[in-house]
This record gives sequence, C-alpha cells and structure tokens, in this order.
Amino acid sequence: MSRTAREIPVHLTPRAVTGPDPDSGGTSDAGAVAERVHVDWTRCDGRGLCTELLGELLAEDDWGYPVSTTGEVAPAVPRRLQRAARLAVAECPRMALSLRGGDALPQSAG
Ligand code: SF4
Repeated sequence: MSRTAREIPVHLTPRAVTGPDPDSGGTSDAGAVAERVHVDWTRCDGRGLCTELLGELLAEDDWGYPVSTTGEVAPAVPRRLQRAARLAVAECPRMALSLRGGDALPQSAG
C-alpha cells in the first residue's frame, strides 16, 4: 500500500529533495530527484552496520545509532553511493533503513 502525500513527512517529499547534489558539480541528471536514506527509529537497534556500509552519509552517535553526516534529517544519496545505499538497506538486520523519493520531476526551462 502506498502512502498518501499527507502521510509522508515534508522532508521526504520529492519537492523537498531537489537541492543541488554536492557531488554533481552542477551536472546532476536534469529533473532527477535524489533518493534519501530514512531510518525507522522504532525498528533500529543501533548496532551501526549501516554506518559501516554507508559511512559517507551515516555515522554512529554516542549510543551507536546512525546519524546523518550531511546535516539533513534524511541524507540525499549521490549517484556514486546508490549501490552502497541499496546494500545498506538490504543488509539492515532490523529492516529499519529505507530509500525514499527519487521521483523524476519535469525539467526546468533554462
Ligand atoms: S543497520 Fe539498521 S538496525 Fe543497524 S543501526 Fe543501521 S538502521 Fe539501525
């Protein structure tokens, strides 16, 4: 079952993840929206496997729970880290990690 737009936190909506990709040098896919890493805190047990597999986006806090290294609540995944992000999601023992967003937006003029 898919979520309605009203159920999706604003920081996870496609329009909220359209900022420039710092790894793209301004040449990211036009119209593409980065996926974001989301942690379900009700499931996460803080063992930190994801921080080992996706260390550029997630680091352990003092209790071993993953925190964003980018300052974003749900860090955007640059293209070069997509494979690592998918692996981290697949390997999370608590199924607490997910990727959200990534819907294409129309290209802007100019
Ligand atoms: S791998 Fe999953 S359960 Fe472990 S710290 Fe990361 S999100 Fe939490």
